[in-house]
Amino acid sequence: MGKLLIVGTVAFDAIETPFGKTEKILGGAATYIGLSASNFGLDTGIISVVGGDFPQEYLQMLRDKNIDLTGLEIVKEGKTFFWSGKYDYNLNTRDTLATDLNVLADFQPVVPDNFQDCDFLMLGNLHPAVQMSVINQIPKRPKLVVLDTMNFWMDNTMDELKEVISKIDVITINDEEARQLSGEYSLVKAAQIIHEMGPQYVVIKKGENGALLFNNGDVFFAPALPLEEVFDPTGAGDTFAGGFIGYLASTSDVSFENMKRAVIFGSNFASFCVEKFGTKRMENLGQQEIQERLKQFKQLTQFEIELTH
Ligand code: AMP
Repeated sequence: MGKLLIVGTVAFDAIETPFGKTEKILGGAATYIGLSASNFGLDTGIISVVGGDFPQEYLQMLRDKNIDLTGLEIVKEGKTFFWSGKYDYNLNTRDTLATDLNVLADFQPVVPDNFQDCDFLMLGNLHPAVQMSVINQIPKRPKLVVLDTMNFWMDNTMDELKEVISKIDVITINDEEARQLSGEYSLVKAAQIIHEMGPQYVVIKKGENGALLFNNGDVFFAPALPLEEVFDPTGAGDTFAGGFIGYLASTSDVSFENMKRAVIFGSNFASFCVEKFGTKRMENLGQQEIQERLKQFKQLTQFEIELTH
């Protein structure tokens, strides 16, 4: 079983969807990735930074999920990264209302001794210079490096981001970000261009329209589960990434065939994430319901057809 190191934001989020509004609640890419990956019982650690305003109870909740926080710096006199977003009725599009980097602005990550030998590295969404610094601090290249990012970093730090992308194995981004990164509208062409930037595998997330996995000539598609309740899509992409890499780390198999299963695991966890505001659903998830929903995924996508030629 692999050792998984995650870098990304641990944040306060304020979210507005057509179904409700929250004040500052727990959020952040690394938080969602960690919660999702924690379902595999791996040795998992987070590298991030928060301010003195970050509640102890959030830290305890993450520790209770067996997430190692040795790499989480607490800047006592600083403020935690804050993000605020608003979704319109089409939950696939959102407007960012605020991105206050706060303690993230000067963050110098340190890979703790107990994760120097990690074999799975998840570079979650945050400044590409931080992602690069983590890659450079790990003495032996991990078995698999996965990167997730977003339009904010493409708008502000594209050159640095491209340098990190040249060093990774898998990128997970949404359709709009794939178009922005590649300059191509067609997702098939976008994936080809992104392959040429470095990653052997390109995962394009399409929200409620599922996810595509590209490996040079090969493509795999996983639908999103049609859900009765969707409250808040925040963190779905990160939850997907946590399920994806968590499954790969738990099986120590990075073949294309296994990555297809990892995409299903990622989609499965994302389907839970969106059912409640923030991290609430992912904080309370049982093994039984995970398995039941995997069964639904199987039923949704399985069919028999007779080919005549
Ligand atoms: P997702 O919905 O999967 O794209 O992720 C939403 C999470 O990303 C929220 O919990 C935010 O705290 C975090 N986030 C938003 N903007 C940024 C950013 N520019 N850098 C890093 N994390 C961010």
